[in-house]
Amino acid sequence: MACGIAEDRKVRRRVIRGLRKQVQSPTLKSKGELAEMRRAGRLEHRILERMATMAVPGVTTAEMNAVAEQMIAEAGAEPLFKGQKHAQARFPFPTALCTSVNDEVVHGIPSDRTLAPGDIVSVDCGVRLNGFCGDAAVTFAIGEIGARTRRLLEVTHAALDLAIREMRPGRWWSEIAASMQALVETAGFSVVREFVGHGIGREMHEEPKVPNYVARGRRREDFLLKPGMTLAVEPMVTMGAGGVQYKDNSGWPVVTRDGSRAAHFEHTLAVTATGVEVLTGGAEDGTETG
Ligand code: MG
Ligand code: MG
Repeated sequence: MACGIAEDRKVRRRVIRGLRKQVQSPTLKSKGELAEMRRAGRLEHRILERMATMAVPGVTTAEMNAVAEQMIAEAGAEPLFKGQKHAQARFPFPTALCTSVNDEVVHGIPSDRTLAPGDIVSVDCGVRLNGFCGDAAVTFAIGEIGARTRRLLEVTHAALDLAIREMRPGRWWSEIAASMQALVETAGFSVVREFVGHGIGREMHEEPKVPNYVARGRRREDFLLKPGMTLAVEPMVTMGAGGVQYKDNSGWPVVTRDGSRAAHFEHTLAVTATGVEVLTGGAEDGTETG
């Protein structure tokens, strides 16, 4: 006799329900998997620390990328962004880092552009080490920056810190997102809506989507925080009224529509029994917020 799920409707329904659940709910990581993600996170932290020392007037974003690529190779890791594709992209993403300067929000491509005093650069780096991913970003000030730009960086960083403080099992993500959005908007800035954070693990982008704002249309995607969830939380904030567009027909750099500046801070976080562990924070036990 053939054995198949079609023979028993009840069993078939149960299997389909199980599959749906698998697709919709994020995977919870085991202790061993978290240990691997911690290793990837520590590499991320080392790279971004190095980028912090390079982020001075006169450096080019291509130079920053070259050092990051070397560090990734030396660690035996693989860059996650290099080779990424999407429907509107004219070519696969060419580098390990995204370097987004001033009005660029995300997906800036490293180039020979020399950074000048007063510029800001958002450096986003993703790696896979021993099969597990880390994803983190920092916006650096190049030399002295204006007061309002400094405020933009402070507020965006504060939105990420707020999420780290507020996240714990049993809370809905939308509660955290609402707090982040309120912090940003109270400061007179706007949360980017076109791009959101994400689950992360063996793949860079896993379920669920992790928006930095709340909206009626996103209610169905809301989720409860559970121990073992690993999420890349990444507020992207613009100085102006919001709204982004592609910079050119490459389908890569995303800029603000009004030309205002943007900032981006990201950490890979693991929900623990009582809060979160910052996997890309640099501490041995991962609890420090880098
Ligand atoms: Mg990232
Ligand atoms: Mg990310």
